[in-house]
Amino acid sequence: MATFDEVKRALLISLFVSLFSLSLKIAAFVITDSTAALSDAAESVVHLFAVLFVVYGYYLSIKPADEDHHYGHERVEFLSVGAEGAIIIVAGLSILYHAFESMITGIEIVNMGAGIILLVAAALINLVLGSYVLRIGRKHDNMIAVSNGKHTLTDVWTSGGVVIALVIIHFTGWLFIDVIVSLLIAGYIMYEAYKLLSFSVKGLMDTRNPSADSALTRVLNEQLPDKANGWHHLRHRTSGNTTWIEFHLVFDDEINLKDAHDEATILERKLIDSLKTDAIITIHLEPDEAHDESHTILKGANKKKDLDEFA
Ligand SMILES: [Zn+2]
Ligand SMILES: [Zn+2]
Ligand SMILES: [Zn+2]
Repeated sequence: MATFDEVKRALLISLFVSLFSLSLKIAAFVITDSTAALSDAAESVVHLFAVLFVVYGYYLSIKPADEDHHYGHERVEFLSVGAEGAIIIVAGLSILYHAFESMITGIEIVNMGAGIILLVAAALINLVLGSYVLRIGRKHDNMIAVSNGKHTLTDVWTSGGVVIALVIIHFTGWLFIDVIVSLLIAGYIMYEAYKLLSFSVKGLMDTRNPSADSALTRVLNEQLPDKANGWHHLRHRTSGNTTWIEFHLVFDDEINLKDAHDEATILERKLIDSLKTDAIITIHLEPDEAHDESHTILKGANKKKDLDEFA
């Protein structure tokens, strides 16, 4: 079977089976009224959104630039990841609300046996599903499937934690452990949400990508073409799997345009090879003369400046 088809099928199976195990967890919460069971279900919702967003992001990232989107479609990822983070925060708050409510009104957990059976079933389903998706992902070296499989397997751990809590309550009657387990899970998913929101804000603000920055400056410092006299004004930003790069490359005044362009193209190739992402590079070729002093990175052309003020 073709790589893409098998991975796609595994992700589709993952989506539908996850929906099923989520409904088991929701049922477990509804019949037991355990806050820990609620947080386990919330964790699954987070997981479902993660799958949807990853598949959607992948679909968009392979969509090429078009007439209406000259820079491609990858930046939408920052929006969808940010929305996912916000949804997870709401899920975390609803767990906290339910936990405090049951602490005030008194924790009461009912139908424990049925709840445990439902959660064990959900955990077993996720164990089989996660191992299957992880195996397909490793086989085809597909990061989306690998991370989806791993995430499904962590869901097994949260369900396991809730089951253990319910069993402890069953034998000892120590109800407060329900709140403790739910707060632990809430803390974990809020931390996940924080990571997503920070990824989103950093992306929207075009925050410097440190690994791309050091790779690019290393190539520029060590492998500059012999005919080039220097470089400056490097700026770059990464969205999705593409890094957009621009900088100025300074040549002797007498070099002809073709030679300068050839040298710049070879340099472009080296820069692309140094990055983990794809890259789109725009190099501004400059004669030495134009640059008595190199400009700082934030000093660009603006309408109030005279032509000879920017180079
Ligand atoms: Zn310049
Ligand atoms: Zn060119
Ligand atoms: Zn210039």
